[in-house]
Amino acid sequence: MKMSKLFVQTMREFPSDAEVISHKMLGRAGYIKKLAPGVYTYQPLMWRVLKKVENIVREEMDRAGAQELLMPFVQPKELWEESGRWEVYGKELMRLKDRHDRDMCLGPTHEEIITSVARDGLKSYKQLPVNLYQIQSKFRDEIRPRYGLLRGREFIMKDAYSFDIDEAGLDKEYENMARAYKKIFERCGLETKMVQSDSGAIGGSVSHEFMVITDTDAGENDVFYCEECDYSANSNHAISKLPEAVVDGKEYFKEAKIVDTPQTHSIEQLSEFLNIPSTLILKSLVYIVDKKPVIALIRADKAVEETKLMNAAGGIDIRIASAAEIAELMDEKGFNAEPGFIGPKGMNGIKMVADETVYDLKNFVVGINQTDKHLVGANLEDILPENVIRADIRLVERGELCPECGKPLSVTKGIEVGNIFKLGTKYSKPMNAVYTDVNGKTHPYVMGCYGIGISRTAAAAIEAHHDENGIKWPLAIAPYHVVIVPVNIQDELQMKVANSLYEVLKSAGVEVVLDDRDERAGVKFKDADLIGFPFRITVGKTIAEGLVECKIRESGEMVKITPEEAKQNIIDAVMSLQ
Ligand code: ATP
Ligand code: MG
Repeated sequence: MKMSKLFVQTMREFPSDAEVISHKMLGRAGYIKKLAPGVYTYQPLMWRVLKKVENIVREEMDRAGAQELLMPFVQPKELWEESGRWEVYGKELMRLKDRHDRDMCLGPTHEEIITSVARDGLKSYKQLPVNLYQIQSKFRDEIRPRYGLLRGREFIMKDAYSFDIDEAGLDKEYENMARAYKKIFERCGLETKMVQSDSGAIGGSVSHEFMVITDTDAGENDVFYCEECDYSANSNHAISKLPEAVVDGKEYFKEAKIVDTPQTHSIEQLSEFLNIPSTLILKSLVYIVDKKPVIALIRADKAVEETKLMNAAGGIDIRIASAAEIAELMDEKGFNAEPGFIGPKGMNGIKMVADETVYDLKNFVVGINQTDKHLVGANLEDILPENVIRADIRLVERGELCPECGKPLSVTKGIEVGNIFKLGTKYSKPMNAVYTDVNGKTHPYVMGCYGIGISRTAAAAIEAHHDENGIKWPLAIAPYHVVIVPVNIQDELQMKVANSLYEVLKSAGVEVVLDDRDERAGVKFKDADLIGFPFRITVGKTIAEGLVECKIRESGEMVKITPEEAKQNIIDAVMSLQ
């Protein structure tokens, strides 16, 4: 490709709405063009990168025994009703009506469709196991479509779904996929951590995420890990041991009694007023899970991890309750307490989840649904209604201890590029997707699902590989392997050598751009760095001595070598990609 013909417009400025490195660089280097919030055109350079990521994913999925298909992007409501998700999937699901007034949606994920495909085609145990995948655009009406390709509304995903006769089969396929994922990200030139994660809206019990570790602002997830042992988990799922703390208030309170605690709306105010550590207070928080109130109880110096709470409450959507919703709940229960004075007693009939920390408390302080009052010297048996769900809903914090070996946990930021889930029968059961066993009995398939964000992976590669001048693409997913820059296109010898290198590299299967523009060398170098070609060959004055300059973008290393050597080095590097 000649640079003069390449459809790319590099810019001096970043797009004004870009907050993170990859968004800034993809915009400035002309890889993407925004059409609407979270919706982008993938320009030719971008499309080359995406196709490379796709191809690596495709090769490794095929190698792992999965089969590719392509399902429709527009989906009818009926299948989503069968799974029960039409009602509960939030606003991320883009719903629309066709001309016959039928409800449809744009595919945010394809569990429903694949389960219906499978139940029509996989009737006997003899046909199982099967793993089917596709690579396709998805649409999710994300609340904050920011960060460019990292969190788009329209984005490209590889989604795979496995069907087994039993848990043992699923376990085996899960391991198989974990191995394939490791290989995929390695081949993309990305270092990833496989961490335990919660299973969010898709559900199921066991899941892992593949995280690109990054210190840039784009890392949306906190990953807790132990340097001593293998433990690592997303903050949605991380657990830890707590350091020692005062959890018995016997020194402060001789007996249980209700005391006045005027104006103590916050934990700080309350602990200051009573002159006690906050570890002696039981905090009660009201959330709305799947449109219903849920009360979360936790030791007051700790925070609730919302996803853990949502899962413990068995929901798929969670948010903190508004002041109006709390007032309404108080009304319903015959109380009149302001936030800050809420407590579990008298809240029978409302779903309640108590964190493990609550069960260590003795002679503590708790709200009793009366403004400006608290119960001190309380014990659990006095205040907990029946049917409280006991669960770990605590947000892990830096400095807490590894649940496996007790050493302090470290925390880092990560970008989730892929994940694997054990779904079990979550979809096959309600959708009656069954196979017949050797005795003629039917059972629902045991399913797994496995996603990779193709476009997010490309953007994450930039977060992990860049400098202030631009992108440093890993060779395997770069749009082109090398750019040849003749310093002066009027110079006959320079052009002759540049052209001949261009031709031989092309015919050896190397993807090469010749910067034939009549621009100053400085401009060409800037663009080369910004676009992020892994190699640059500069043909300048030293060609008189038979030498060109070869620059490696990743390390910045520059060597003066013969055109023949430059050609061979690049061919060797490209051929060494699997
Ligand atoms: P997240 O927690 O980041 O929203 P998710 O749990 O919703 O991700 P899945 O539904 O499991 O993700 O989708 C599989 C993969 O698709 C993710 O691992 C991620 O790489 C990618 N992905 C998800 N949402 C987006 C998005 N809005 N833009 C780009 N890629 C995405
Ligand atoms: Mg999501």
